Amino acid sequence: MLLNGKTGIVFGVANKRSLAWAIAQRAAENGARLALTYQGERLEENARELAAELVNPALICCDVTKDEDLEAAFVRVREEFGSLDFVVHGIAYALKEELEGEYMNTSRDGYRIAQEVSAYSLAAIAKHAAPLMEERGGSILTLTYLGGERVIPHYNVMGVAKAALDMSVRYLAWDLGEKGVRVNAISAGPLKTLASAGIKGFSKILGHMKEHAPLRRNTNQSEVADAALFLLSDLSRGVTGEILHVDCGYHIMGM
Ligand code: NAD
Repeated sequence: MLLNGKTGIVFGVANKRSLAWAIAQRAAENGARLALTYQGERLEENARELAAELVNPALICCDVTKDEDLEAAFVRVREEFGSLDFVVHGIAYALKEELEGEYMNTSRDGYRIAQEVSAYSLAAIAKHAAPLMEERGGSILTLTYLGGERVIPHYNVMGVAKAALDMSVRYLAWDLGEKGVRVNAISAGPLKTLASAGIKGFSKILGHMKEHAPLRRNTNQSEVADAALFLLSDLSRGVTGEILHVDCGYHIMGM
């Protein structure tokens, strides 16, 4: 029960396969009370079904491109919980047509959208979360991918957004460290989810990773959730600004 008595807000639950859902489940099993957010009406039914598996959750609609949604989400968290111990940011989005072919063909709008949803949203969320974490400190966790450090064909504009996200983790860690708020990321290996389904050649990426990762297998949701539990809990109280690779070791390889 590593999160007993703690409260958290989780962004990015779309369905059962979502990494944010795996983390939410692990956090709940470990005693946390959660607010789950979902992007919009289209996902409301899924979110309701999943939230029904949790004890006393707050369910909140929040599109991170809308300031008024973010504001309302944290007002609700303050009303329900009073304070906040952790945030899980499991959000990314790019136009499907940007996730194939050459990066140089990225449109102005495609670039803006990917950055706004996938990277800027972490800073916007941190700004709202920090005042609720002032008393006890807290942990903010996001999910990134190796495509922000190395070139993964077709990942394109999302890779550039992940590079911005990775750097945002470090700047936010510096901003918030004084208040006892830690900011970290998990760089997960490729997994089949709604988001990854939009990347051209994704099954090839999975196959390559399985063959070349030191552990000779693909990553699964459960091991990402276990690492998240460490980063959300006091076990990682000395860790901030870190990008923890949970990818069966693939990132160390030169092939
Ligand atoms: P997912 O599709 O289940 O989750 C993505 C979430 O982003 C969805 O819940 C979606 O509703 C949300 N989202 C998109 N635009 C939004 C907006 N404007 N406002 C609010 N929410 C919005 O897929 P996932 O793979 O679980 O992705 C979660 C995170 O993990 C992403 O940051 C992704 O890049 C990262 N990640 C995924 C993989 C992988 O292979 N699946 C690997 C490494 C990192």
